[in-house]
Amino acid sequence: MSDHHQARLATRAVHGGQDIEPTTGAVMPPVFLSTTYAQRSPGVHQGFDYIRAQNPTRYALERAIAALEGTGLSRDDDPGCGGIVFASGLASIGAVFDLIPAGSHAVVMDDLYGGTHRLLSRIRGPVQNLRVTTADLTDAGRLGDAMTAETRLVWVETPTNPTLKIVDLAEVARRARDINPEVILGCDSTFASPVNQRPLEHGFDLVMHSATKYLGGHSDVLAGALATNRADLAERLRFVQFAAGAVLGPFDCYLLLRGIKTLDVRVRRQNESALAIARWLEAHPKVERVLYPGLESHPQHALAARQMDGFTGIVTFFVAGGLDAAKRTLERVRLFALAESLGGVESLIEHPAIMTHASISAEQRAELGITDSLIRLSVGVEAVEDLIADLDQALA
Ligand SMILES: *Cc1c(COP(=O)(O)O)cnc(C)c1O
Repeated sequence: MSDHHQARLATRAVHGGQDIEPTTGAVMPPVFLSTTYAQRSPGVHQGFDYIRAQNPTRYALERAIAALEGTGLSRDDDPGCGGIVFASGLASIGAVFDLIPAGSHAVVMDDLYGGTHRLLSRIRGPVQNLRVTTADLTDAGRLGDAMTAETRLVWVETPTNPTLKIVDLAEVARRARDINPEVILGCDSTFASPVNQRPLEHGFDLVMHSATKYLGGHSDVLAGALATNRADLAERLRFVQFAAGAVLGPFDCYLLLRGIKTLDVRVRRQNESALAIARWLEAHPKVERVLYPGLESHPQHALAARQMDGFTGIVTFFVAGGLDAAKRTLERVRLFALAESLGGVESLIEHPAIMTHASISAEQRAELGITDSLIRLSVGVEAVEDLIADLDQALA
């Protein structure tokens, strides 16, 4: 039962944590839908008794994700080798915040996914009395002001949505542990995918994905994933998964297992096309500015090149002519779908100020640089020439 932890990422994407099914030789893990399992004698079973507690298809997916992120944990440490999946990305973030007691202090990145911000300010704050300090951790030095020896959790996102700021994970980890060696460090790595970035390699304890995005990759499944290299955290998170109950259903696990097989191929293509599109946009007279970590003009390009193996399929740009010009562009595209979400095989285009970031106040949007002329692309796997031609006619 090799979990292929040592293989290269493209190999781990296909084989990581996967077994040939012993009774039939099936190459793909079967979808085990059974909610319950027969016992030989009361309490005597083969490791499976009830679907919320254990599920073979879910374990296969969890081990695949663990292999991608390089948890280094074995099946003896945790049945998912430190990969733990949930019913949505937000449910997995909720599980992380279930690790810290009521009244705790947490430091979070200022430029957070809107849903994470809403979870903390509308639920965890009032219900759990969580005290949250936000800080722009693109400057790791700011941790010194934001964090104390009592801080239980630091939560970052990199690259951020939609302005693609980068957090220096190793530097945040080093500074955070100086202040409190016990602090839990978590990173929402959804925008990078494990192909481009693996936070556990940079000293973080936990990495989180909205598996709805790149891991699934086909815009047809809602799911969340955590991976940890700490057996103690794996045990606690597995208990949260079981006891709070936001587990992922077997069929959704199967869709993700299927999607992950092509993760490396998809994301490499998306990286490549996104860079070509970013360069093309940067030279376009109707484009004021392009934000893409792979461009030399990105203020943190050197850090991104050091920390990441690729620069993602997300490209953000400011179109000349403000809201009207942005709306015109969004209405005129034919190949790009005007839609929220990201990371799928089909290219999407959206307007953060009106769509994904509408719940954030106008002042806060201004602070984060989310103006009315800002457009976000999620580049798919179509021929890049066709994508550029589509943007060309839309901007004309
Ligand atoms: C989509 C997203 C989430 C939330 O995930 P869901 O699967 O929609 O619950 C969290 N973080 C980031 C960066 C996302 O893009």
